[in-house]
Amino acid sequence: MNETIVTDIPFNLDLPGLLKKLRIDGRPEYAERCTRLARQAAGLARPRAAYRLAYVEAKGENTVVVDGVTLTSRVLRVNLGDVHRVFPFVATCGAELDAWSKSIDDMLEGFWADAIMEEALRAAFDALSADLVRRYDLGQTAMMNPGSLADWPIEQQAELFRILGGVNEQIGVKLTDSFLMVPIKSVSGLRFPTETKYENCQLCPRDPCPNRRAPYDAGLYERQYSPAKSKPSSQ
Ligand code: SF4
Repeated sequence: MNETIVTDIPFNLDLPGLLKKLRIDGRPEYAERCTRLARQAAGLARPRAAYRLAYVEAKGENTVVVDGVTLTSRVLRVNLGDVHRVFPFVATCGAELDAWSKSIDDMLEGFWADAIMEEALRAAFDALSADLVRRYDLGQTAMMNPGSLADWPIEQQAELFRILGGVNEQIGVKLTDSFLMVPIKSVSGLRFPTETKYENCQLCPRDPCPNRRAPYDAGLYERQYSPAKSKPSSQ
């Protein structure tokens, strides 16, 4: 059994931090409404995550085969270099908060609910990371997510979910026909050990992006990933 389901994740919402982030900490009427929502959400939230240990079985120029499923991405191929163990994962805020947010009609409260769900997703992702690093004694890791870069498009979610198996049954995350996840506040990807720090953002020119984790490096693809310039190791 290579699958791990992470449940019973504590959701300790940092309320002052949330109000500040939403820029309503100095507006008592808004702060009170948002606090009421946050308390409702905290009582309902069941963030969850699932991941599994999987093995890289073969590598091509722009592909890697993981547990029998072919993933197509030049960047992923190069990043995996000589890596053999990878960890596909999904983390989610949970279906309970998703249903709760859909019951909110007020636009402003809907916006706040969105931010609360993102905090629940963050709790799920942090719990998954801690479990993974502890269980497999990993050092530095990096991750890639289908849809983050044109090089690894959103359609590849289908392949990632095939490797993971029953994510819907395990943690209630489904893929739509357009490969988006439901609940929408979910994140999927492939995590892998690495000696070189890597963030998708280094290859993504989107500006501005509120979630940017590393500066854009306009020459990185050409230097490191261009098939003409780099020859990844083969298996
Ligand atoms: S810059 Fe923003 S959109 Fe681009 S990969 Fe990073 S987080 Fe995603």
